[in-house]
Amino acid sequence: MPGYNVHRVFNYAVFIAVPVLLYLWNFSAIDINLKNILVLAVGFYIGTDFITPDLDIESTAIKRWGKLKILWLPYKWLFKHGQSSHNIVYGAIVRVLYISLIILGVYYLLFKSLPSGMIAPSVYVLIFLIGIMIANALHVLLDILF
Ligand SMILES: [Zn+2]
Repeated sequence: MPGYNVHRVFNYAVFIAVPVLLYLWNFSAIDINLKNILVLAVGFYIGTDFITPDLDIESTAIKRWGKLKILWLPYKWLFKHGQSSHNIVYGAIVRVLYISLIILGVYYLLFKSLPSGMIAPSVYVLIFLIGIMIANALHVLLDILF
């Protein structure tokens, strides 16, 4: 299985290569919104460097969380390495839900209420999540190939 840095290089290479190829093949008709691309890139970065499928083992990815890596202990216990955490469709969704529940739990403990206005996610949240899901899919594809 490829290591942390191999996954990072692969993910960022694909993330850069795809738009370049689309541009070269004259897909310039696509409406490019810089704000959407920035949000997608941030999600992709988070999905590549922090919320990776390899959070289910003692990996470099989990070490990057520093002391906060303790948050992922239950996740490691719940998900065996290379199985549902490495699902190309719902692996990223489960991790995002997992860490979101923890963040909401901490928020609730601090403020005794949930943040308002979070019922209807904005289009940017969706684009951010798509960035994480693309990073997850590339990770899983590389694991399958090698
Ligand atoms: Zn992996």
